[in-house]
Amino acid sequence: RPVIICITVFIAMGVITLVAMAVVQNKPLHQKYKYGIVLDAGSSHTSVYIYEWPAEKENNTGMVRQTHACNVKGKGISSYAWNISYAGMSLRECMEEAKEKIPVWRHPETPVYLGATAGMRLLRMFNAAVSDQVLSSVERFLQTYPFLYQGARIISGQEEGAYGWITVNYLNGNFRKALTTMGALDLGGASTQITFVSKQEVESEENSMLFRLYGNDYHVYTHSFLCYGKDQALKLALAKQLQTGESQLRDPCFHPGYIEQKSLASSPCVPETRPHDSERTFTHTGTGNASLCQEVVKRIFNFTHCPWGRCSFNGVFQPPVEGQFGAFSAFYFVMNFLNLTSDSLEQSKLKMDHYCSTPWAEIKQRYPSVKQKYLAEYCFSGTYILTLLENGYNFTSENWKDIQFIKKIGDSDAGWTLGYMLNLTNMIPAEAPDEPPLPHG
Ligand code: AMP
Repeated sequence: RPVIICITVFIAMGVITLVAMAVVQNKPLHQKYKYGIVLDAGSSHTSVYIYEWPAEKENNTGMVRQTHACNVKGKGISSYAWNISYAGMSLRECMEEAKEKIPVWRHPETPVYLGATAGMRLLRMFNAAVSDQVLSSVERFLQTYPFLYQGARIISGQEEGAYGWITVNYLNGNFRKALTTMGALDLGGASTQITFVSKQEVESEENSMLFRLYGNDYHVYTHSFLCYGKDQALKLALAKQLQTGESQLRDPCFHPGYIEQKSLASSPCVPETRPHDSERTFTHTGTGNASLCQEVVKRIFNFTHCPWGRCSFNGVFQPPVEGQFGAFSAFYFVMNFLNLTSDSLEQSKLKMDHYCSTPWAEIKQRYPSVKQKYLAEYCFSGTYILTLLENGYNFTSENWKDIQFIKKIGDSDAGWTLGYMLNLTNMIPAEAPDEPPLPHG
């Protein structure tokens, strides 16, 4: 009998040891990862991104990846200008999700950053006190979470461009391999950014940035055009067409059969030409003609004034585009919807002719599940994108194929948020880490 007891005790100890080993083995698996949260407070909406990276390899480039994205319901934080206390609360659902997704014991060391872009830049121009109050509202709300709050601020257009460029090159492994980098084209609702490495001198200091990453220097050209995001560009185009003072607008950028009563809401982007212009209502009717639409769109750019050797538009210096480009955010949404992501410039224009002239009733029938606001605007948005890229940035039929319209690289969305976090957490070292020593013998 003592033998049986001994065997039983022995087996029990074995089981306990196995369970203990399993627990111990599982724990390091959890401990291996660290997390970071970035909120992209855009002009039309806010997204919350969670990033993850192996704890021991923080400085090895290419290790950080996006594990979760949450779209905040409702509009962007700048739309809470007259309802300030709700700006913070609007983030609740996505922040609760972040609490669920990140292991509890990592919460206190998980940094949270909020970066606001052109919607808030415009609100600040319109009313700086209100934009401060909106930021304070989101700040107070984010501080109620158990994470390591690192601030809520309006990032500059230069930062937005540069961090988007860092993101796409980091995700493609271009820094690690010291390869040539790719340019970044970002289109939001209120601004658009172009960023790339140019072999030519960057004549204007405000468009030039120097990064030392992983032992290499990168001289980067960047520019952010405020008011040339696709929603503000549409306002500019409507205002140009309404200059004649009529209350009927026959617009080639909208489908035949489209008819809506609208008012031109005031925006710092649209200089009011006469008193009470902002309250002016008009009947917006579509005539559906892509080439006439392109003529309308061209009128929102100034191509004549250039104080530099060469310009994109509005007197802004730009060297000739070179190398591959990744075009993301609304560049992707629109070109993907219109099925233009792998067409030539000429094919794209032909497809736009056909698409814009399709009657509105037919479009609505063909895409019943697409949000009507987006659907009504794809003719304008597609034409705007082609015009911005060809006439604005000077892409040609020859180098059109160098633009890749992308949403994600691997698991991670292309956009400025990852680059922002990598920079603020010093996760891309300036110098390449020493090579591991060669084994002896
Ligand atoms: P922002 O909020 O400033 O980042 O801008 C995003 C832009 O993309 C806005 O103009 C949105 O209207 C637009 N957008 C987002 N999703 C879609 C979509 N599925 N189709 C077309 N436009 C979109």
